[in-house]
Amino acid sequence: MITTFVSPNCGPRKSEKGIAPVIDTLVIHYTGMMPTRRALDWLCDPISQVSAHYLIDEDGTTWRMVEEADRAWHAGVGAWRGWRDINSRSIGIELSNPGHDYGYRAFPNAQIETLIELTNGILERHPIPARNVVAHSDIAPSRKIDPGELFPWGQLAANGIGVWPGQVSAAVSEQDAAQTLQAIGYDVAENKFKTVLSAFQRRFRPACFDGVLDHETRSCIAAVHELVAETPPTD
Ligand SMILES: [Zn+2]
Repeated sequence: MITTFVSPNCGPRKSEKGIAPVIDTLVIHYTGMMPTRRALDWLCDPISQVSAHYLIDEDGTTWRMVEEADRAWHAGVGAWRGWRDINSRSIGIELSNPGHDYGYRAFPNAQIETLIELTNGILERHPIPARNVVAHSDIAPSRKIDPGELFPWGQLAANGIGVWPGQVSAAVSEQDAAQTLQAIGYDVAENKFKTVLSAFQRRFRPACFDGVLDHETRSCIAAVHELVAETPPTD
């Protein structure tokens, strides 16, 4: 059950590069504060200038703060696959979690199961490809680390949400790594390479996210790239 708790922090979606906005991206966040009620109030306070479409508590309780048709204010400065106004193209979901500053902890199963159910509905309503289900840290690597290395991307992928590299691929070369990360969607022009690499690792190789381009990371980059590569047109 979803409770509506209206946030004033929203507006109409906007065009970018002269192209009308399409909702083709889903951004996952954590709130980074406790208790959940405080986060809810903050996301709905005109002073904060931030919001999201949904907030899910650790027990699965869910609030809708902004209608999906509207532009919520959750992504901030960032980019994914060349688009910069991510708020205009995305749905934003906040997961209640203290975050790295206040005792980062695992996301309980009730919360994740609710997220999966909510997301499956969103994916039915909007043309969001798997590769555009992203962490806040993917689109803003220099500013954000949420939802963090404890977020169960593999569990989501097992439920048809997002991408997760299951198989081992031949590693990309050191020279090709940056370009391949850019092809996946990361903004390698506006962020330091090590920072982008760390964001990639936190997302896809969460056991170690030191920003070092080791062999396993190069394999992982290749595996993710294979998963997201455009299928060539057939005739
Ligand atoms: Zn965030």
